[in-house]
Amino acid sequence: MSDHKATGAVRHAVITGSTSGIGWGLARAFAAEGYDITLNGIADAATVEKLISELRRDFKVQAWFSNANMMRPAEIRAMISEAEANNPQLDVLVNNAGIQHVAGLEDFPEEKWDAIIAINMSSTFHATKAALPGMKKRGHGRIINIASVHGLVASPFKSAYVAAKHGVLGFTKSIALELADTPITINAICPGYVRTPLVEGQIEQQAAAHGISKEKVVRDVILAAQPKKEFIEVEHLASLALFLAGPAGRAVTGSSMTMDGGWTAR
Ligand code: NAD
Repeated sequence: MSDHKATGAVRHAVITGSTSGIGWGLARAFAAEGYDITLNGIADAATVEKLISELRRDFKVQAWFSNANMMRPAEIRAMISEAEANNPQLDVLVNNAGIQHVAGLEDFPEEKWDAIIAINMSSTFHATKAALPGMKKRGHGRIINIASVHGLVASPFKSAYVAAKHGVLGFTKSIALELADTPITINAICPGYVRTPLVEGQIEQQAAAHGISKEKVVRDVILAAQPKKEFIEVEHLASLALFLAGPAGRAVTGSSMTMDGGWTAR
């Protein structure tokens, strides 16, 4: 059950980057709890139609789609105001959209650096800033930033991603302090590897680069850092996000919650 005032209004969650992977899993989990959902991402019309109908059919909730590009602040602001027009009870914002690029610094393309900083970090600032006034007015809000273990520790060849995710954790802590005297919380979730299209891309790249099978990449490269040697399940991340959004999450703010199979215990 949500912690929001019993207004009778249907709760609403905006989840960026939710046409795929973790974001889509979160969308289904929040919809299963009765939240209306605003999806966002880069996807063709047929995919969007399919995802929206699935949420409506499976969970009997309202669902909308925003094609806001997380590199463009004006589009992010428009996404939040359209979402509030569709259902003003915007209780939950999940900043999840993200991309990856793996390369050594000297070969790292400038445009990839700029895109990763914009999508993985700055969009969190723009969306949170846009959502806050409404949350303050309504007296309830939960902001959940999907960071990464790479917000806490580094790996080589991921300089932009590691910088952006460390930035998300710094932002989360700073805004938690700013919001401490309000009923709004902001937290980060730091997953280890989850088998989504983002990671499939890395598995394929590594297999090609090293001339080895995808299975060997998974065992010896990807899961080498994760002591439990298994991928994190999207459903389990979604349970953590629902905990943060629910009543028991009330006192949790400014935290970086790991779900990483022991990665950061080393
Ligand atoms: P994914 O590639 O499956 O999904 C990424 C989503 O972001 C998609 O919906 C895509 O359309 C959207 N997106 C990309 N660029 C966008 C843009 N410019 N504007 C709007 N939307 C955009 O990836 P995922 O693995 O589900 O990753 C989701 C988040 O989780 C990312 O922030 C990622 O860094 C983080 N994360 C993933 C893992 C993992 O192992 N998969 C681990 C830790 C953290």
